[in-house]
Amino acid sequence: MSTTRSIRTVDDLIAAGLSDGAGLDAVAQKYAIAITPTVAALIDPNNPNDPMARQFVPDPRELVTTQEEREDPIGDLSHSPVTGIVHRYPDRVLLKAVHVCPVYCRFCFRREMVGPQGLGTLTPTELDAAMNYIGAHEDIWEVILTGGDPLVLSARRLTEILQRFTSMPHVRIVRFHTRVPVVEPERVDEEMVAALKASGKTTYLAVHANHPRELTGDASAALARLADAGITLISQSVLLRGVNDNVKTLAELMKGFVENRVKPYYLHHPDLAPGTSHFRLSIAEGQALVAALRGRISGLAQPTYILDLPGGHGKVEIGANAIVGADGRYTLRDWQGVEHRYPPE
Ligand code: SF4
Repeated sequence: MSTTRSIRTVDDLIAAGLSDGAGLDAVAQKYAIAITPTVAALIDPNNPNDPMARQFVPDPRELVTTQEEREDPIGDLSHSPVTGIVHRYPDRVLLKAVHVCPVYCRFCFRREMVGPQGLGTLTPTELDAAMNYIGAHEDIWEVILTGGDPLVLSARRLTEILQRFTSMPHVRIVRFHTRVPVVEPERVDEEMVAALKASGKTTYLAVHANHPRELTGDASAALARLADAGITLISQSVLLRGVNDNVKTLAELMKGFVENRVKPYYLHHPDLAPGTSHFRLSIAEGQALVAALRGRISGLAQPTYILDLPGGHGKVEIGANAIVGADGRYTLRDWQGVEHRYPPE
């Protein structure tokens, strides 16, 4: 489907032939919609199970919230000392300058915070406070710009923000979490690439993609521009029912990353975000897929299978370390050695 501007409403979806709109008005009131022309072109409107449609076209099942789902599934708010900062581990912080994205993923773990009705963009005063916090904490070695998608900011704005790190010698690494190189690759132009390096720090960029079809020729070119500029690329994917929950798709995706100089990093177990149960697999299914990948593709292409513990307790590798309790729940140890039950009781 070819469009020249992003799809943002139910009427846009109907006009683009991507949905009949049934049951979607209530979904649209609750959760933002955005599909860029690049993504719209990847959706097969004749396939009701299309993995691209499933990621981006809203679905009435999003109104079904299960008991275990929660508005802040990975506990950002419980680790937020000032607005826009999440300080979960001693040596790194998230800086969430903006809560807008070029696309709104239907499984998003921050779906209650992003979008036009979300937490918005930091005001100049809030940004100052966030920067002061980073500057005052010399144990912060790495700043991760996430959100929202930091690459929706203009090159000029990003440069202004990033140059503030030059006076913070303890900050050594700046990392971006973004979907832009894949969903809006034309934004990754010369100016944007220069802006991403404006901190003068070692720069990493984690690109989020979940299906090999997302790695189009334009996406490859955008990733090449970043890699050629000396930005180290890593991947983030979410394991999603009906999108990539088979070995063939996962293998193609991970090999595609490696071919584009993106080192596979995290394969996330889907978080307990509201209205996303139709995307969730069991941990046992995920472990079987990850084990099958081991035998099938190069070690270079292996991601780490990870669960963000509900409540803000951080990430746990679940490839092999999980212990199944007698009642079928998992007991997982966080980075501080504290045990948690999953799903939570
Ligand atoms: S790009 Fe990231 S933050 Fe934005 S909707 Fe998708 S998963 Fe959520």
